[in-house]
Amino acid sequence: MPLLEPIPAFSDNYVWLITDPPSPTVVVIDPGEASLVTEAIQKRKLELAAILLTHHHGDHVGGVEELLRARKVPVFGPARESISTVDHPVKGGDVVSLPDLGLDLEVLDVPGHTAGHIAYRGPDFALVGDTLFAGGCGRVFEGTPEQMHTSLTRLANLPGETQIYCAHEYTIANLRFAREVEPHNDSLEKRLEAAHRTRAEGQPTVPSTITEELETNPFLRCHTPAVIAAAEARAGLDLPTAVDVFAVIRGWKDGWQG
Ligand SMILES: [Zn+2]
Repeated sequence: MPLLEPIPAFSDNYVWLITDPPSPTVVVIDPGEASLVTEAIQKRKLELAAILLTHHHGDHVGGVEELLRARKVPVFGPARESISTVDHPVKGGDVVSLPDLGLDLEVLDVPGHTAGHIAYRGPDFALVGDTLFAGGCGRVFEGTPEQMHTSLTRLANLPGETQIYCAHEYTIANLRFAREVEPHNDSLEKRLEAAHRTRAEGQPTVPSTITEELETNPFLRCHTPAVIAAAEARAGLDLPTAVDVFAVIRGWKDGWQG
């Protein structure tokens, strides 16, 4: 069984490692920084087999060159973005085979945060970079709200038990904003309390599941009466589509000071 574990990097990034003990093989996702990854690999006598990238931002790709200097491995990344270290460009529908881990990952196109952002879907998990966060979603830097909404819907349609591995520990801030949008959502209140306990113990709140996100993440709830009402009150006008609701909630969050 593949094992996913986070290496905390910078102030709030997670670089994910996939291993399958007792095999020494390790695959690294979005190494924005190399030294902590190298340290983990050396300490545990792991062998790096591949690097997977979700999008071009520096806090996701910044450590790749240094890792490649130590060991030349294939680098998979979005075909629609220009990343100099990627030698295996992939797009939605492609499959990344990791034979040493006995794992095939399906590539999903999830543009919006960046123009070519991709996710990697395993048998019961998905590595989603900065597209879907626990309790929130990435900022729409390069795409349109419609693209981001479509990408989030693609992830929302994965089976409910799918474990979602995002690349940042933003959960408490996200859930506090979610509570602004939906002050009467009991599941959300419980999730926020649980996230506070988890962080107080120094543990990551990631992964979450699609079911949890559907119950508590306002960006996956743009079709629900409570979120529609909150967005319309915020905007002061009728919002006929879920994309309109998404755009208002995203803009609200962008300007939210907490
Ligand atoms: Zn990013």
